[in-house]
Amino acid sequence: MKDYREVMQRLSFLPDLYLVGGAVRDILFGREPEDLDFATSAPPEEILRLAKAHGLEAVPTGIEHGTITVLIEHHPFEVTTFRRDVETYGRRAKVAWGRSILEDLSRRDFTIGAIAMSAKGEVVDPFEGQRDYEAGLIRAVGDPRQRFREDYLRVIRAGRFAARYGFEIEVHTLEAAREAAPEVLSHVAVERVTAELDKAFKDPTPSRFLRYLYDLEILQRLIPEFEDTHLLLQNPRWHPEGDVFTHVMEVVDRAPPPYRWHALLHDIGKKDAAKWKEEGWYSFHGHEIVGSRLIPRIARDLRLPTALRDELVVTTALHMVPALTKPTPRAIRIFQAEAGSHLSALEALFRADAGERRPQEAWKFFEPQPVPVKPLLQGRDLIARGHRPGPEFGRILRAAYQYQLESGETDLEKLYQAGLEGLKSGRR
Ligand code: ATP
Ligand code: MG
Repeated sequence: MKDYREVMQRLSFLPDLYLVGGAVRDILFGREPEDLDFATSAPPEEILRLAKAHGLEAVPTGIEHGTITVLIEHHPFEVTTFRRDVETYGRRAKVAWGRSILEDLSRRDFTIGAIAMSAKGEVVDPFEGQRDYEAGLIRAVGDPRQRFREDYLRVIRAGRFAARYGFEIEVHTLEAAREAAPEVLSHVAVERVTAELDKAFKDPTPSRFLRYLYDLEILQRLIPEFEDTHLLLQNPRWHPEGDVFTHVMEVVDRAPPPYRWHALLHDIGKKDAAKWKEEGWYSFHGHEIVGSRLIPRIARDLRLPTALRDELVVTTALHMVPALTKPTPRAIRIFQAEAGSHLSALEALFRADAGERRPQEAWKFFEPQPVPVKPLLQGRDLIARGHRPGPEFGRILRAAYQYQLESGETDLEKLYQAGLEGLKSGRR
């Protein structure tokens, strides 16, 4: 049950039924709509009653906003009573039931999302959203200043839609967005901001959206470590692209969608790194501080899920290890043990970070390792060589095993010699 016409047919018992929101935009412009949202003049209780009368399961999933989820062949569809704003205070608008589709469309944020389609296929587009789509414009419905003041999250959404479609923000809308930008974070619940970032991370080039947020000084307010990162130069040896901000943007776009938070935050300690170095910390220490201090704070501020936070702690702390460490079997083993279940996240981040500069040797850190090997040199081999069990016996075996793990050596005689060496140096 995916075809919107079929779904509309099944819901045709609802009065003044329209398909609304992103789905109309997608259908009109030949994209596959993600989810189908409907609007009707029936109040929520009436939607419930009518759906049940027509044999459909219906759940009041957001009844205070007028939303009922109707199930058709197990697919959920949101049906919402026409709404109009009665009181707005810069957060989420309070709503009342509206009387017409026109009223409902006029409270939507941008023209390309304020188009409706009736069951007969008739398009209702009072704000010329189709024209703006064709011109590649994100334009506020009505007076942009007022619309941003009603709900400051719209400032952020404008940038997300522009980035997704490769559109420009219409000049007056952009001007109003700039004006409203300093107010956004003090008026909007951070969960809603994080949700917009999550959505943007699923799009092909989230950097366009992040640059917009940076340009409006929203990103730096959200994550203070971003402040002035465009002035911060990278080590040219590793990063020919110059400044930290540009680098981070490139890594975010290169990273696969599930790892874009990692990409965004992977160099978050860069600004403090110079200071830490002056204090005499060695190079990995900065990454450890990021993992242990900065990430937990940022994750708390942004209300990131715990599983993501835990993974970020590991990836930010370890992502430089493969580039800076010689890939000895021992180094690889330690790295993999510390990476634990986050090895694939680390690999994704490392690849996105490295980009075209491929430190081939470093990939070894991500190759599956053989299960921990047993010691090859055994007590009976020592006895065969004339040793008798005693305190030396164990020390030789341990040194031989250590050598086996570090070198990958499998020759018994060489392991035995290494064991003897270890015994000598141990005595000194
Ligand atoms: P996406 O593909 O990202 O879901 P969308 O256009 O469907 O894009 P949603 O956030 O799913 O956007 O919202 C559905 C519709 O509801 C929008 O097209 C818009 O008309 C309206 N809408 C959503 N959030 C707001 C808001 N904060 N202010 C005004 N209208 C909004
Ligand atoms: Mg949507």
